Amino acid sequence: MIYKRSSALFDEAKKYIPGGVNSPVRAFNAVGGDPIFVKEAKGAYLHDEDGNKLIDYISSWGPMILGHAFPSVVEAVVEKTKQGTSFGIPTALETKIAKLAVEMVPNIDKIRFVNSGTEACMSAVRLARGYTRKDKIIKFAGCYHGHSDSFLIQAGSGAVTFGEPNSPGVTKGTAKDTLLAHYNDLESVKTVIKENEGDIACIIIEPVAGNMGCIIPKKGFLEGLRQLCDDNNILLVFDEVMTGFRLAPGGVQELLGVKADIVTFGKVVGGGLPVGAFAGKAEVMNHLAPDGPVYQAGTLSGNPLAMAAGYAMLTELNSNRDVFESLSKKTEYLHEGMKKVLDDAGIVHQINRIGSMISIHFCENPVTDFKSAAHGNNDKFKAYFHGMLDRGVYMPPSAFESYFLNDALSYEDIDHTVKALSEFVHELK
Ligand code: PLP
Repeated sequence: MIYKRSSALFDEAKKYIPGGVNSPVRAFNAVGGDPIFVKEAKGAYLHDEDGNKLIDYISSWGPMILGHAFPSVVEAVVEKTKQGTSFGIPTALETKIAKLAVEMVPNIDKIRFVNSGTEACMSAVRLARGYTRKDKIIKFAGCYHGHSDSFLIQAGSGAVTFGEPNSPGVTKGTAKDTLLAHYNDLESVKTVIKENEGDIACIIIEPVAGNMGCIIPKKGFLEGLRQLCDDNNILLVFDEVMTGFRLAPGGVQELLGVKADIVTFGKVVGGGLPVGAFAGKAEVMNHLAPDGPVYQAGTLSGNPLAMAAGYAMLTELNSNRDVFESLSKKTEYLHEGMKKVLDDAGIVHQINRIGSMISIHFCENPVTDFKSAAHGNNDKFKAYFHGMLDRGVYMPPSAFESYFLNDALSYEDIDHTVKALSEFVHELK
């Protein structure tokens, strides 16, 4: 496939936009080469500026769960636009989507809408701190909760230790309040809690992780966290920005039956427009301004176009719950197809899958946390990514990202994907 015009557009973009992109992963730094520039997308396909048609496995990093330009979502946004695009004054639609979200998600009474997943997680942590009157938080190495300062923290020199900033601009003062533990390792959490007794406001976690590839919580891990939180007066925050309204109508709380105190959302809840949200029981949520003292606000929060897209999306998912099963089956079919091709060619690999999230790591041992994910062979991943792209299949351009299937994908598209892999699999030896 030829990507000449995309490359020219990238050169031009780099003159005016840092790195030519508005979010780093889009620049293909992890896999090399120039990113493609999309012109339009419909259903399961991206159409790029060179006229190529690509099968899309990232679905805008999650939101487009029903495929691109889903008719009822597009129609809702177009109609709403005609009535004005922002007021900064309440609208009835905000209550409609809030009510629907509260009906779909277990264990929440109230929800506040914001403009991104980052904002949702940042606000959830502030609320947890304000509610518990404690300062420190625990996060897990390899989990991503957006680019707010408190989350841009990496493990320090010890095995489990205080974090260090992993971006210039994040202060040491901020880092000292973010403590790091290891995913799927309850003992690491217990150690951190013990060393910081009485200081921890919340544990924030991707209950199914999607930012080190797709990582599934081991049996008992989330339940163990719940117990540790209950025993130590710590709030459990589930970051369901990826998994919310995707793995089940009620997200991981519904799928795996573990309750969180605060849940954050993004991606699907906005139907492809910039939306995030955080939610919980009234007792916790009532601590937010204007009812309570914890401040949080937004000029464009609850924006009518965003709420229209989100409401249309949630309505569709709520009324057609077969979608979740359908997506899961398609993802399983992809898994089986790719595994067979890789196994037949003798390529060492790991595939993790749950619902419509899946990822491949080229390594020997099971991938259960950040450390094991980092053992993946990146040269093989690069060859895999470009082999697919050359054959019109768009996979995430980093081994540390999950794929997000959309329900517009057909079994023929998946057959095409598996065939594409078989055409160059010998190059992965
Ligand atoms: N939380 C998780 C689990 C995410 O995957 C992301 C983004 O990918 C975020 C939070 C941040 O969301 P946003 O990019 O909308 O700020």
